[in-house]
Amino acid sequence: MTTAGHNSLNTSSVNTLVICGHGMVAQRLLERLVAQPRLPFGRIVVFNGEACPAYNRIQLSALLAGDASEHSLCLQPPDWYHRHNIEVHQGDPVTAIDRDTRTVVTASGRVQSYSRLVIATGSRSARLGIDGEDLEGVVGFRDLRDTRKLINISQRHRRAVVIGGGFLGLEAAEGLRSRGMAVTVLHRSNHLLNRQLDPTGGALLETALTERGLTIRTRTSPAALLGRDSVRAVQLDDETLISTDLVVIAAGITPNIALADTAGLNCDRAIAVDARLQTSDPAIFALGECCQVGAQTFGLVEPGYQQAEVLAQVLCDNASTAAFEPAVIATRLKISGIPIFSCGQTQPDGDTESVIWQDHETRHYCRLLIRDQRLTGAVLFGETSDGPWYSERIQQADDISPYRAHLAFGKPYCDAA
Ligand SMILES: Cc1cc2nc3c(=O)[nH]c(=O)nc-3n(C[C@H](O)[C@H](O)[C@H](O)COP(=O)(O)OP(=O)(O)OC[C@H]3O[C@@H](n4cnc5c(N)ncnc54)[C@H](O)[C@@H]3O)c2cc1C
Repeated sequence: MTTAGHNSLNTSSVNTLVICGHGMVAQRLLERLVAQPRLPFGRIVVFNGEACPAYNRIQLSALLAGDASEHSLCLQPPDWYHRHNIEVHQGDPVTAIDRDTRTVVTASGRVQSYSRLVIATGSRSARLGIDGEDLEGVVGFRDLRDTRKLINISQRHRRAVVIGGGFLGLEAAEGLRSRGMAVTVLHRSNHLLNRQLDPTGGALLETALTERGLTIRTRTSPAALLGRDSVRAVQLDDETLISTDLVVIAAGITPNIALADTAGLNCDRAIAVDARLQTSDPAIFALGECCQVGAQTFGLVEPGYQQAEVLAQVLCDNASTAAFEPAVIATRLKISGIPIFSCGQTQPDGDTESVIWQDHETRHYCRLLIRDQRLTGAVLFGETSDGPWYSERIQQADDISPYRAHLAFGKPYCDAA
């Protein structure tokens, strides 16, 4: 689908910004660009791999759980692009970048020249590298197509195995459970959400999910997915077999870097960019989940949004001093009735002290990590309303000694102290 007129061969010399990918971060970039006082581009052309305009990918979890409609995921009404004179080509991914002629080629054969190119191709579900991954009924959880497929299978089948006990896996598992499936979650580490929670938080979460009816198996990995055409069972590393009709792979993400890599741009785990989001080619920029700043890659939307702010300024003003600096980002689990908040450091090390508060009856749990009288991490389970306040203390590196004794009880007590 095209939302504005185009030529199939367009190599005109108009100052053209081409954006490759139309996910959440590319959309935020477009919104920031049209808000700039002076837009130096005669044309903005967007190519998207998916067959629909940018949508709220985060809400796919709610869509799977039946708590949101496809329509509600829409980020802008269709006429927004026309109004801002932005050409969007849906379902026509870029297949090659020619840096010598400054053109991109798309799957439909379109050739489009650019004066500036932005790569915002995001990531895809990581593959496990085991037998059976290509069987029917083995699905990732990344986009609208995956989610439709999961909903469809849940209406016809009863058993599911979700591989990965991180945010994505747990949200997929809970969504499928709420649609009536019997779901087993397999997680390699000792406790669920091991990157966001400490072992106590992980154990509380496991209890809460088990009580809802999920089967959780930690410290285990799949060795193979079995079936003739469709998946029928998961074989674990200890030879156990779990019968299933559906396998959801939610064991991490892989940045989409093939385009950039083939074009000779510097890539590591993702596309290497500097603080201005510029790649090793000064005419090409990258942001969102496909980029890497220093050693850091990104799996949350907030850093991508901050990058979009910076890149809009850089693209509109060459002399701009805007620079992206990775910040500590808080995460929340989107499973209703199980509030979890995690920010910064989650495991103590030799230099940190822990303040722990737990109410066994209400199952509220709070672990705060402190180094040199500064808060460095917060894990909250059950009661998370003070999460943003803790997150602010971590960001600002405030001296917490005046109210340290009250810290675990939250903002009102600390303010009063
Ligand atoms: C189910 C789910 C729940 C999530 N929940 C949260 C959450 O609660 N909080 C949070 O912060 N983050 C969450 N995330 C992650 C968040 O969605 C991502 O961080 C964010 O979408 C990244 O944006 P992006 O624009 O970099 O990539 P994407 O949104 O993935 O967009 C990239 C787009 O580029 C397209 N593309 C790829 N290759 C090409 C090509 N060659 N040519 C043209 N187009 C191409 C892709 O098809 C895709 O549409 C969630 C993700 C999922 C899947």
